[in-house]
Amino acid sequence: MSVPENGLRVAVVGGGWAGCAAAVELDRRGARVTLFEAARSLGGRARGVAVRGAMLDNGQHILLGAYRDTLRLMRAVGVDPERAFLRLPVQMRYPAGGDGMDFAAPRLPAPLHLIVALLRARGLAREDKLALGRFSTAARWMGWQLYKDCTVEELLLRFDQTERLRRLLWRPLCIAALNTPPERASAQVFLAVLRDSLGAKKRAASDMLVPRLPMGALFPEAAAAHLARRGAAVRSGVKVAALASAGPDGWRLALNGQAAGGEAVETFDAVVLATPAPVTAALLAPHPEAGELAQQLSAFTHEPIATCYLQYAPGTRLDLPFYALEDDPASGRWGQFAFDRAQLDPAQDGLLAVVVSAALDAAALPQDALAAAIAAQLAQDFRRPELGAPAWTQVITEKRATFTCSPSLERPGNTTPLPGLVLAGDYTASDYPATLETAVRSGLAAATAIRAYGALPREKRSLSHSHGTQGPTSVR
Ligand SMILES: Cc1cc2nc3c(=O)[nH]c(=O)nc-3n(C[C@H](O)[C@H](O)[C@H](O)COP(=O)(O)OP(=O)(O)OC[C@H]3O[C@@H](n4cnc5c(N)ncnc54)[C@H](O)[C@@H]3O)c2cc1C
Repeated sequence: MSVPENGLRVAVVGGGWAGCAAAVELDRRGARVTLFEAARSLGGRARGVAVRGAMLDNGQHILLGAYRDTLRLMRAVGVDPERAFLRLPVQMRYPAGGDGMDFAAPRLPAPLHLIVALLRARGLAREDKLALGRFSTAARWMGWQLYKDCTVEELLLRFDQTERLRRLLWRPLCIAALNTPPERASAQVFLAVLRDSLGAKKRAASDMLVPRLPMGALFPEAAAAHLARRGAAVRSGVKVAALASAGPDGWRLALNGQAAGGEAVETFDAVVLATPAPVTAALLAPHPEAGELAQQLSAFTHEPIATCYLQYAPGTRLDLPFYALEDDPASGRWGQFAFDRAQLDPAQDGLLAVVVSAALDAAALPQDALAAAIAAQLAQDFRRPELGAPAWTQVITEKRATFTCSPSLERPGNTTPLPGLVLAGDYTASDYPATLETAVRSGLAAATAIRAYGALPREKRSLSHSHGTQGPTSVR
């Protein structure tokens, strides 16, 4: 049921998945929402990019059936997840004929689907299967909780996971889910992802959802159209350059960008800052009350992800929509997962996408060298020499794809010491790593925090402002 927010005027700054989720939820609750996005298009780190006249994603994404808030919000803005995704049972399948493994769950109820997958898995010895069974039993027994966080590598050693399982299953899963290598990744966060997917009571939660639609169309653009239909304002190409307290009137935002008519100042009752952590830190830095928070955000480190697109002759196909690849940077093998785009979108005939996560070293290579190495790896792994000679390649590297998800990392909550100013973004407190679901949930949590603020009597709001910040001098 819609709950009016006393017509609160709320600025949502940042049109990534977190900001779009916050805007949709605030609008549903009766706030008067304006969504500002600095770029010309919405979507942030999950957006479309024009390449050679076509729209490709800035990075190949996979969602999980466990992303319940994302799927719910997609439906709310008119996107049908059943059509938007190719839904595949959980799997880790390497090209046939190599040293990899073939693990694919059948469409059976949980946990039977995993038991059967394990029994049928090829490329795993009996001791690997026993170790995997032990891991799953012990993790369930522990309630997927650790007394004290440690690295994923330590967890795997503690649970006696074989070298083969670590190499072919756990490492790729950890890198795909946390974008952080096992030797630096949080075991607790990894367990939370496993709990909600492999450990879930329903098989559908462990399904892998591979987008058929471009990332923009999947949610942010549909959210913008939904907001516009309901009379909310979506202003792309407008950067919020600074914020200042306007005392009882809320917050003054300094805007710039052509779409803002050059430079402008606008006032709102409350603000959701849904910008990436480094931008949020910079916007908060001039406010002494938020100094500690700004410092905490500045201390986050980030991991890159590189996606290499390779265009081949029309009709070039892989047997499966996607494969795991064994990477080995020391011998120039960078690719970790390969996707056959034509099986997702027929318009992308002959296009493959190869993902390199936690890609610090790969990102340092010249793009042509990385693409050539990946093409050679595909030719070798699939035993198809023609894959070594694509017609063209395009590497898209997101240098700050996600924060480094290290053990016991302190992540800030959604509220700040500044009244009426709340945070959203994949870096905010959550037991999940930086994912689309984390971003969406943070947007929903920010909307709830704004609601609590809006429920305060106006005098209380302005009172808290009066001993709040004077704000930066750049906003007059
Ligand atoms: C290559 C890649 C692959 C990924 N793969 C997966 C995956 O498979 N599965 C998964 O779940 N997650 C994946 N992720 C993570 C996921 O994309 C992110 O967690 C999510 O998109 C973050 O959303 P956000 O809204 O928190 O932040 P962002 O997307 O960074 O949004 C912030 C927005 O704020 C805007 N902005 C910045 N400054 C200003 C300003 N001053 N004024 C106005 N606007 C501003 C930015 O332009 C941006 O649009 C991947 C990420 C990348 C980069």
